[in-house]
Amino acid sequence: MLPERPRADTAMAAVLLWQTRYRLALALLAGGATIGLSSLGLFTLADTAAAVVGTRASWFVGGVTAAYALLVLALQTWVRRTRSASSALSTLMVTADLVVVFWLVFLLTGHENYHLGLLLALFSLQLTHVYFGRSQALLMLAATAAGYLLLNDVALRHGANVHWGEVLTTLVVFGVGSLLVTRVQSNLHERLDTLVTIFERAEEGDFSSSYDVAADERPDAITSVGRAYNRMRTQLAGIVLSDPLSGCFNRRGFEQQFRRELARAARAHTDVALLAIDLDHFKQVNDTHGHLVGDRVIAEVGELLRASARTDDVVARTGGEEFMILAPNTSIDGAQHLALRIVDAFRRRIFVEPSPRVSLTVSVGVVADGVPNEGIAEDLRARADEALYAAKRSGRNRVVMWSSGLDALRLKHAEGKPVAPGS
Ligand code: GH3
Ligand code: MG
Ligand code: MG
Repeated sequence: MLPERPRADTAMAAVLLWQTRYRLALALLAGGATIGLSSLGLFTLADTAAAVVGTRASWFVGGVTAAYALLVLALQTWVRRTRSASSALSTLMVTADLVVVFWLVFLLTGHENYHLGLLLALFSLQLTHVYFGRSQALLMLAATAAGYLLLNDVALRHGANVHWGEVLTTLVVFGVGSLLVTRVQSNLHERLDTLVTIFERAEEGDFSSSYDVAADERPDAITSVGRAYNRMRTQLAGIVLSDPLSGCFNRRGFEQQFRRELARAARAHTDVALLAIDLDHFKQVNDTHGHLVGDRVIAEVGELLRASARTDDVVARTGGEEFMILAPNTSIDGAQHLALRIVDAFRRRIFVEPSPRVSLTVSVGVVADGVPNEGIAEDLRARADEALYAAKRSGRNRVVMWSSGLDALRLKHAEGKPVAPGS
């Protein structure tokens, strides 16, 4: 069995609150019916109950239902004030439900009908399982069995002809049936919880998990929802995580991949490299050729960058004419090589052929480092940006490798090899 999804105290509080009106209505119905029947002289007390409580049964029914209603109201006030409900509180409520059920059954029926208490408890058990979880339901199952045995014991002590064989058989049938129902419901819950988790992840832009349709022993409506989600997943991921113009990941997609790769690198103790890429004087392209041509250039740049990177690299358009490449498992040398290849590819490339044929250069800031933990994300990005600005400041159309103070290596693409800063 999968672990039970924890029910938050606030969710439990909400359930207890909406259930209040049904509990009060049932208390009112039981109390009202008894008083009504008594006043018409139609109320008859079961033999055993008469022997135990005497003849003033309607007082007992009224008293118990009134006490129950007061308890329900007190709990409601408490939950409203604290806005949360512990499992102890729900246990108290469920126990009170059981006490009322068995008390009414005891007062109103003979011992041969005590199994009615089990039937009513089964209904309550279902609700408990749905809203409060498996542990509460199992607790309730045990309490129900104890209540049923207690009633029969009281009846036996007061001279009723109780057959323990029948009592125990009824109890076993009830127990097995309830456990089966609980098990089926648990399975439904677990699968629904899985779906909820998958949807919550998708809400955050994480489409990595699919619903395991094959794991469902008997396909049902939940399986169909899972299957439908699996069909949508790829399309949704494409819409939510990628940039339609360049065909690269968008900022959201990049953030997600970045976090994932950093976690992986931290586990595997490998380096990651980050390239911050900005098109040089791109405003001039728009000014000279118009935005539509500018857009086509951005689309071709996306293609070019993806073609220059490896399959495992994450290429993203993180701003208007700004891109980032995350290269997992890449040392400083590998990152430098990739950056130089990109700058070189731009130099040789003519965009938007056959007309208007746009030439473009690019500046790249590079950082590569080990990943002590995922918290390094912001630091890596800041360093890549710093290196990019250095590349812009020192004339564009080049690669700058980040180093502390940026006074170590700087690569100028024209030569294709490292040169000292300011040269
Ligand atoms: P620098 O070398 O300093 O980066 O100069 P730049 O002109 O590239 O930079 P600047 O930030 O001054 O201008 C960026 C330009 O990119 C301005 C904006 O119109 C253009 N741009 C941003 N997003 C898009 C887009 O989606 N389509 C088009 N056509 N142009 C865009
Ligand atoms: Mg630019
Ligand atoms: Mg820019």
